[in-house]
Amino acid sequence: MFLKGILDFWLAYAMQNLLGATRLKHKQEWCIKMKAFVSVDLEGMPYVVAPSHLNLKGALYEEARKIATKITFAVADELHKNGFEEVVVADSHGPMVNLHVEDLPEYVEIIRGFPRPLSMVAGVEGCAAALFLGYHAKFGTAKSTFDHTYSGGSIRKVEVNGVEVSEFLLNAYVAGELGVPAIMVAGEAQLLKDDVEKWAPWAETVALKDSLSRVASKSPSMTKIEKQLREAVKNAVAKLEAKKVKPLVAKKPVNMRVTFLVSHFADVAALLPIAKRLDALTVEYTAQSMAEAYKTFELLVLAASGVAALLTQQT
Ligand SMILES: [Zn+2]
Repeated sequence: MFLKGILDFWLAYAMQNLLGATRLKHKQEWCIKMKAFVSVDLEGMPYVVAPSHLNLKGALYEEARKIATKITFAVADELHKNGFEEVVVADSHGPMVNLHVEDLPEYVEIIRGFPRPLSMVAGVEGCAAALFLGYHAKFGTAKSTFDHTYSGGSIRKVEVNGVEVSEFLLNAYVAGELGVPAIMVAGEAQLLKDDVEKWAPWAETVALKDSLSRVASKSPSMTKIEKQLREAVKNAVAKLEAKKVKPLVAKKPVNMRVTFLVSHFADVAALLPIAKRLDALTVEYTAQSMAEAYKTFELLVLAASGVAALLTQQT
């Protein structure tokens, strides 16, 4: 009888520990939050067509901020409704302080300010998926609102391993190296045709504007756009769960070619020991990773801005 009592007590103790361990395991699983990454630019946003939409002191800047915040909110809200507990939003145009942060919900974490490491994709590490909003076509695209590649003031062309990239493709390569797939792109229609359909055909797309010229476009109503964005997020998350998406990975080492708008930017870029001057406007360098290639490019753009400011001071 006494022995059975000890046995019963031991069995109960063991069971309790076993259940406790199960509960702990369950708790640990819940502790791993599913995070999504959203990078937000302005030039590919609907109704954004005038230069004064894009600058902090522009007469229409406030309108652009409201539009970008509405679009970001709709996407973040739908991601949250589809199982993402956290949404990292990288405010990614110009000085990168555009969104009305007070209008974004509790589960959103906002990355703001520039310069910063990894620029438009800062904060993508550790996320399960990347989404790009308000993105636009690369420099030299005909009839495409505000076509440019990363810096309208200094860059003519960027090539990654021989492929001319848009900002979307450049950023998607950085995300891809960190294991994060691009699952959705919303922006200017020509970008979606040229780069998204070609390089990330699994990504859901929403055309926020069809361009009539570099400074004019046609867009659906905001109500319709919000519906399309929510539908696209739902589809993108379903594809992610079904493993029908993949990270875009650039071959290593990464060959980068940067063509500037004027030769004095290339003169300054060529001061970097790893940069080889190819012609008046172009330098080339090799990086061990996409992140390293991107950070070096960021540095070259900042150097170009610096020299531009210096020369302006002298006039
Ligand atoms: Zn921009």
